[in-house]
Amino acid sequence: MAEAIKYGMIKDKSLFEKIAERNLDTIEEIMDELVYSCIDIKRQVVEADEFESGERMTLNFGHTLGHAVEGFYNYSTYTHGSGVAVGMCYITDKFCDKDVYNKLADCVKAYRLPIDVPAKMSELLPFCAKDKKRDSDSISYIVCREIGKAEICRATVDEFFGIMGE
Ligand SMILES: [Zn+2]
Repeated sequence: MAEAIKYGMIKDKSLFEKIAERNLDTIEEIMDELVYSCIDIKRQVVEADEFESGERMTLNFGHTLGHAVEGFYNYSTYTHGSGVAVGMCYITDKFCDKDVYNKLADCVKAYRLPIDVPAKMSELLPFCAKDKKRDSDSISYIVCREIGKAEICRATVDEFFGIMGE
């Protein structure tokens, strides 16, 4: 469900809204449609990126910090989806309007996924630097300032750490 929420956030506001108006107990009714929509968005993004334009990187929304959460907790405490949920919430909290953050956080909670973890940001960030999406001393991360629209951002590791803070 974290990945499904991600697809709505990066590319399809109406998909996000469909997910947001349901919860873990009622989503089953539209699961086939949901899976189809997610795969279709992935297909569109990958096709658009045939020439490595970079759009494919938007699929990484929530994953830079998500991988850090998984890594910090030794890949045992949090599932990949939980890590992605936390990662989407942390990035959105830092870079977007409260309104966007609140919609995302409410949706994440409706699927009993975490919006944060006890670890401090300063403990998680070193694990971002190990992320495979990072090259040299820069780090790429995805921000959805509006639901359904993803932006690829790039910063030095120091800048990124400075923005994310403690
Ligand atoms: Zn993933």
